[in-house]
Amino acid sequence: MSLALARKYRPRRFADVAVQSHVANTLRNAIAGDRLGHAYLFCGPRGTGKTTLARVLAMALNCEARREDREPCGECASCQRIWSGGASLDVVEIDAASNRGVDDARELRERAMYAPSGEDRYKVYIIDEAHMLTREAWNALLKILEEPPPRVVFAFATTEPNKIQQAAAPVLSRMQRFDLKRIGPADVRARLATVLKAEGLTAQSDALGMLARAADGSMRDALSLTDQVLSLGGTEITAERVREALGLVHEDEHLALLDIVAERRPGDVFAAVARLADHGVDFGTLLADFADLLRAQLSVVLGGTLPDLSERLVEELPKRVKHFAAGDLLRMLNMVVEIEPHLKRSGQQQMLFETLLVRFALLDRTIDLEQVLRGVGSGAGASTASAPSASAGRSAAPPARQAPIVAAPSERVTPAPVAAPVVAPTARVESEAPARRVAPPVPSVTSARAAVAITPSNGPEIADRAAPRRDLLALDINRLAEHWDHIVDSVNAEHRALLLSSTLAHATPTAVTAGGTVTITVESDAHADILTGGEAVLLAALRRRFDGVQKLVVRTIAPEGGAPRRLNEGAVKADRMAMLRRQSPLLDAAVDALDLELMD
Ligand SMILES: [Zn+2]
Repeated sequence: MSLALARKYRPRRFADVAVQSHVANTLRNAIAGDRLGHAYLFCGPRGTGKTTLARVLAMALNCEARREDREPCGECASCQRIWSGGASLDVVEIDAASNRGVDDARELRERAMYAPSGEDRYKVYIIDEAHMLTREAWNALLKILEEPPPRVVFAFATTEPNKIQQAAAPVLSRMQRFDLKRIGPADVRARLATVLKAEGLTAQSDALGMLARAADGSMRDALSLTDQVLSLGGTEITAERVREALGLVHEDEHLALLDIVAERRPGDVFAAVARLADHGVDFGTLLADFADLLRAQLSVVLGGTLPDLSERLVEELPKRVKHFAAGDLLRMLNMVVEIEPHLKRSGQQQMLFETLLVRFALLDRTIDLEQVLRGVGSGAGASTASAPSASAGRSAAPPARQAPIVAAPSERVTPAPVAAPVVAPTARVESEAPARRVAPPVPSVTSARAAVAITPSNGPEIADRAAPRRDLLALDINRLAEHWDHIVDSVNAEHRALLLSSTLAHATPTAVTAGGTVTITVESDAHADILTGGEAVLLAALRRRFDGVQKLVVRTIAPEGGAPRRLNEGAVKADRMAMLRRQSPLLDAAVDALDLELMD
């Protein structure tokens, strides 16, 4: 195959422009009805056909074998030249990225003032990446767009029309704007199938699906990727070949990770991820693929389907429905969205991915609100408003694993008169939740209320001491890791501290001492600074949930320039110890002052 598919199958007629028929038909009708505009703006993601449409327009206007339906013939010398992007007197393609200044625009304006080379020809200027033009350049063009010479057409193409809006709003009113559609996987598939058939090649259905997904809305990419697969040889495009050519991880590997999360086996994360790392997987891609899988699982849990699931996933995902509630999958997807930009820049991609999976595996699962309310019994009315963390959804967790419901936003450490009526129902929800993780005896509702009630005028500290906070969890590292999401949510809900809570979402609690010192590990010094700056808020959030939190230590996992390390359970432990020791001035002082023991 000498000619690349993307080039060979670039449309030559309006009718061939996949998906964008709304634009193609309008343009063809405008030519046929002699209602041609003089400036068009094609907006849309990359690979959706912006330049292609502009070229077909130029071909149609200058075709030497003009047809009744005003489609270009695609074969005449003029069509050929324009189609291939070759030099032409009348059709000029300009890349605005490298010709963005006012001088370029002035030159363009002057050239456009000359008439086309023939009576029946049109000058067409195709300006790609139009959002790159400077404000001054647009100003220089404004005049000619306002009073265009006859038989001159401008076709601007851009992926970012909002930038043109910002730089040159007046020119937008001089153009006819077309918004091109993103090309969905189903359309990409259909087009690929047509192309392959025309080439006399066959493809497995799953292989087409993988190519369509990888193309991510770009037809050009889909065809280039297909070229890549074909370069491996053979006449059939199989899923295996696509995987090999594009460096994709087998679906079963993704499913294995999903099962670790589903079956709550955080300890298995490390080996599974290490195996993928050994195969040289790209963690950015892996994260995106895993997010796709979570999304597919979500659609199955909700009783829907994704149009482009592989046969294997159609078969496998329903088996896992019982492990996941929709709310949990949504939370996981949110966490992926948060970590994604961070992961791309990180030198610790493997660790970030591992940490994320561990957090998924330890995630407190959504609990059916009705079930909780049944457990609460007659107190239900008072508690409803204060249990937002029990979001609606099916109960996915077996009873023994259910988390205590904690209504973080309503637990305030504000002075007692305000706090008392709010705290009481919260304590009640917790104390009577159907399953409890905490060992201490369940406090009776009345005593908790009484304790608060008899100290109405005391400050919060005194109130805390008067009423032992039995609604608090005993502090230990595993429990803290499990509840980390709640701490992050709590900081966010209570203080609207977005930077702090998003940093916390990427931080990992790595150690807790018997004396109540909590060590949080972050990836960079910048993150450490943010956490240190938010120490008071973070301590307050920790104290709202855990008993005996005394102080906070923030660690950076690897110093500047430190090599990324593999993380496993042993390493985590050693790391915690090493970190504590390196922290020695602080730690020694703390040990002396508070008589602490190191947990490890
Ligand atoms: Zn022609």
